[in-house]
Amino acid sequence: MLFDPRPKERRGEMFDREVELEAILRGMEEYPITLIIGIRRVGKSSLLKAALNEYPGIGLYLDARRLYAAGSGSISAPVMADELRRILLGRGRFGFLRGMSVEKVNLGGIQIKPRDMGFMDVLEIIHWIGERTGHKVILAFDEAQYLRFYGSRGGKDLLAGIAHAYDSMPNLSFVFTGSEVGLLHDFLGLDDYSSPLYGRIYEEVEVRPFPRELSEEFLRVGFSEVGLNVPQDDIKRAVDELDGIPGWLVEFGFNYWKKGDPKKALETTIAKARNMIREELLELERRSPRYALILRAVSIGLHRWSKIKDYVEAKSGPITNARLGSLIRNLEKMGWIKKENGEYLIVDPVVEKVLRE
Ligand code: ADP
Ligand code: MG
Repeated sequence: MLFDPRPKERRGEMFDREVELEAILRGMEEYPITLIIGIRRVGKSSLLKAALNEYPGIGLYLDARRLYAAGSGSISAPVMADELRRILLGRGRFGFLRGMSVEKVNLGGIQIKPRDMGFMDVLEIIHWIGERTGHKVILAFDEAQYLRFYGSRGGKDLLAGIAHAYDSMPNLSFVFTGSEVGLLHDFLGLDDYSSPLYGRIYEEVEVRPFPRELSEEFLRVGFSEVGLNVPQDDIKRAVDELDGIPGWLVEFGFNYWKKGDPKKALETTIAKARNMIREELLELERRSPRYALILRAVSIGLHRWSKIKDYVEAKSGPITNARLGSLIRNLEKMGWIKKENGEYLIVDPVVEKVLRE
């Protein structure tokens, strides 16, 4: 059912996205690293889960945000190793894993105590499992930007481990998703020579909001599934407000279905989106208050560089062009703003509304 608000887990539950799904599956087979990139609620987790479900080998799913939330401001190495062990040992359906228990793991005759294993030991085991099954094992980190909180060096230790696996464990592949394009790139540092992962080859799958036509179709199909006949005008208005972001379309469809009131459904959806966006804006602001100023400038119609600069300087004092340029570029990379014909625009209409409040 399209209007089920949970992440989808199978191809059949999803609207469209055949191309993206195939690209992710190909990435899993052919590349040591695959990135799934797109803004919040666009459908990254759903695609990742659907792909893992279809992948012919073993796929392990980890939610980095959940790992982060479970700790106190960081993801510790033992927490990560624990989580991996838990997922692995929970996979009793693989016959050869039956010898493994929480107490001991039998690796080709060698007994290892899981409690003593670190992240690299667990990777070794996963690699070994890949060898045994004759298929690469996929280790997928959802919301990978939270891996920056691994250990005490901004995630560098984890990256070093992943780089090592990349170089010497051909039976292991990684998938990362991120809602903040730039942070994901910046964190993994695939293009940054100071990163342990510099220069590694990767596949990148971009997940975009649906275009207008498909968004309307999405709502029509969803409503017909639940036996509702919804006026075309209501559908058009919802797409005007929510753009083609499936998460918000689902939320709207679900609320409409339950409450039967298009106006209320749209209000509830926008209220929920607002709260989520407010939280993200606060996080952005903590990194630099100027991010928020730039976004606010753009949202109130200051689309050109010089106007944005005037606004930022009026609010928080002088800023060099280099500094402003780097902040603007980051906002572009994170998917908050885009540049069209020399003008900066807010990507997500709901974000724009929140900023104007
Ligand atoms: P992200 O991980 O990018 O934030 P999710 O995969 O969690 O996005 O998707 C947000 C919500 O939108 C999900 O709960 C799911 O119900 C819905 N959704 C996303 N993509 C689709 C799709 N292609 N078809 C149907 N529903 C979708
Ligand atoms: Mg997600």
